[in-house]
Amino acid sequence: MPNQDSAVHVKMMPEFHRSSIQIKNLVKVEEIICGLIKGGAAELQIITDFDMTLSRFSYEGKRCPTCHYVIDNSKLVTDECWKKLLQLKEKYYAIEIDPVLTMEEKYSYMVEWYTKAHGLLVEQALPKAKLKEIVAESDVMLKEGYENFFDKLQQYGILVFIFSAGIGDILVEVIYQAGVYHPNVTVVSNFMDFDDNGVLKGLKGELIHVFNKHGALKNTEYFNRLKDNSNIILLGESQGDIRMADGVAKVENILKIGYLNDRVDELLEKHMDSYDIVLVKDESLDVTNSILQKIL
Ligand code: C5P
Ligand code: MG
Repeated sequence: MPNQDSAVHVKMMPEFHRSSIQIKNLVKVEEIICGLIKGGAAELQIITDFDMTLSRFSYEGKRCPTCHYVIDNSKLVTDECWKKLLQLKEKYYAIEIDPVLTMEEKYSYMVEWYTKAHGLLVEQALPKAKLKEIVAESDVMLKEGYENFFDKLQQYGILVFIFSAGIGDILVEVIYQAGVYHPNVTVVSNFMDFDDNGVLKGLKGELIHVFNKHGALKNTEYFNRLKDNSNIILLGESQGDIRMADGVAKVENILKIGYLNDRVDELLEKHMDSYDIVLVKDESLDVTNSILQKIL
């Protein structure tokens, strides 16, 4: 229990008054934040999803692209292929966000989606040299407040681990072009594999999809580096993101912040059970930034 001196009253923070914020257990949230404050910068690390968590779900009423969609919708892909990718997206995205199916039930569908979609992209012989251009021409946008978020974490030397089932090369280019690909940021994602002529020939390593993020990284070099860090802020949006920190050896306090972008009515309860703080249709990093402000 926090003592009087270190108690945190989130209701006194203006960001906690917005209608988008939903918290099931306020006392627990305040206790966790209190623990994060006590540990300070030295013990803190960030583990975050990318698509629809750091990047926007929508802007001015229009859907924003995922890393995959930056490619799917680009000039590098033929109309015929674009149509096929869109059909896959319609079918499998519905499964991804289905409120009734379990993660286990969704798992094999996700593998199917990624395998088919990546196969189609390889057929398009995508040139590495054009990736910068398609990112610059796309509608991908980071959430409001991203500069403050990344710059502050960089300033305090806090590790930011972006764990994404998107396409790593696109993700890195997005944050690079936004000027926030700082040295404290590590990206684990699906990175493209190019042949000697710089043409896409496949994806490297083990596939990361929406529902295999748990424990998938236990043996990676990155997790070894994290062993002394015991406080985590986890940012995600899907049920698959909740267990991204599995594999971190020593966790003292973990605050899970989850965006809820789609099928809100059906998913809210489940999200509130899984995440300490739920942000409904919130296109900003303001709540996280306000917590960082308290810690750092
Ligand atoms: O960064 P994150 O882990 O969220 O990236 C995964 C996202 O990519 C999923 O939410 C999924 O909807 C999307 N995706 C896509 N096209 C694919 C495969 C996944 O837009 N072919
Ligand atoms: Mg995501």
